Amino acid sequence: MTFRLFDTLSGAVEVVEPLNPGRIGMYTCGPTVHDQAHIGNLRTYLAEDLLRRHLEARGLQVTQIMNITDVDDKIIAKASAAGSGLAEFTAPFVEAFFRDLERLNIQPAHFYPRATGYIGPMIELVQRLLDSGHAYQSDGSVYFRISSFPDYGRLTHLDTAGLKTGASGRIDSDEYEAKETVRDFVLWKAGRRGDLAAWDSPFGWGRPGWHLECSAMAMDQLGESFDLHCGGVDNKFPHHENEIAQSEAATGRTFVKHWFHPEHLLIAGGKMAKSQGNFVTLSALMERGHDPLAVRFLLLTGAHYRHKLQFKESLLEEAAKDLERLASFWKRCAQAEADLPTVPGGPDPLAVASARAAELFEEALDDDLNLPDAIGTIFELLREGNRLLDKGLAGREGAASALTTLRQADTRLGVIERRAAVEEVLTSIEAALLKQREQARRDRDYAASDRLRDELLGIGIQVEDTKDGTRWHRV
Ligand SMILES: [Zn+2]
Repeated sequence: MTFRLFDTLSGAVEVVEPLNPGRIGMYTCGPTVHDQAHIGNLRTYLAEDLLRRHLEARGLQVTQIMNITDVDDKIIAKASAAGSGLAEFTAPFVEAFFRDLERLNIQPAHFYPRATGYIGPMIELVQRLLDSGHAYQSDGSVYFRISSFPDYGRLTHLDTAGLKTGASGRIDSDEYEAKETVRDFVLWKAGRRGDLAAWDSPFGWGRPGWHLECSAMAMDQLGESFDLHCGGVDNKFPHHENEIAQSEAATGRTFVKHWFHPEHLLIAGGKMAKSQGNFVTLSALMERGHDPLAVRFLLLTGAHYRHKLQFKESLLEEAAKDLERLASFWKRCAQAEADLPTVPGGPDPLAVASARAAELFEEALDDDLNLPDAIGTIFELLREGNRLLDKGLAGREGAASALTTLRQADTRLGVIERRAAVEEVLTSIEAALLKQREQARRDRDYAASDRLRDELLGIGIQVEDTKDGTRWHRV
């Protein structure tokens, strides 16, 4: 089996072959921290998390870099309106972002470079482009000369021949939409000493453009050529197109081998976006009682990552139920593995079904991360497993094998074990009481020990003293 992934650049599903054997360098465009992330942004990070987990499950050693854009047009505008400094303004949004990742069980990147920490490499990159004639100065700003890079438009399959480039003017904004207006874009924006965000450079005071930031940080961390670059579909143009142009013009080398672009999340038929005012945050969903793991499960399995997903809160309730079924099956198999005997005479039918499900699960993920299909095989196993266990047809080996399949699947899903563990975890108060009781028993203070046992029972923890030590369970 080989892992095949859709590549935006070639427009086809391609076998993922690392540039360096056994290793993958992966750059993921991170948040621009002027607001909280909405669940549409989070869907992108979840798809990237799935991709990384699957690469790791295939035995590859992934180095993931995710930038934090902490200086751009919007941040500067909002920070000045709030009368605060950049760092002071962005700090709470950075914190909220990391909290969301943790709640969604997204594996942390290996490093989160911040744009403001990479001004040096950014200035160097601008200088290289100036020296090689791919950039020019005008009114204190530096622009990329699109006419100097004939490959411009390759990623989004733009036909630049009919477009007026260069001559039609320049663009200073970090974000622009229409492909018809391909224009020389800004690498370094003129500023003044003392501005909220301005650094001294050989081309005068100013600040980097957003596109340039990602190129500089990616190449600084992963080298001039690396395996995978990821970002939401709306990053394709102009952001990634510009990243390719300025990086390849500077180095003369292929910037990135594969481009990965997960699709949008829709709400009431439209794209979820800050600019549309229709965005939903993870915190808001949690305040309404939703489990973040159900959010993870829905955003990952609700649709293939290359398809749009229509968000509805009712889907979250369904996702929570599905998750509960998976967690119960997990616990049932763990219990059955401990309690049941071996099935006499011949292979355990649940072991056979589990091995087959594991195979199908991997096959589906190897086929461009088809998680909706992969999860289907797990639910089939769940139905078959419950049926066999109900009828007493499965034994210890079958249960163990089903648990292995679930565990293996969960290295990508990242939800079942966490959900199954929820009930088994003690709160800090419960743990403290249990510890006090154990101490009391060691001290042979049985009055205190009994009192603590009653207290624990009062909050729903039944304690049992066995020859193997103290056990507890919820009642
Ligand atoms: Zn980026």
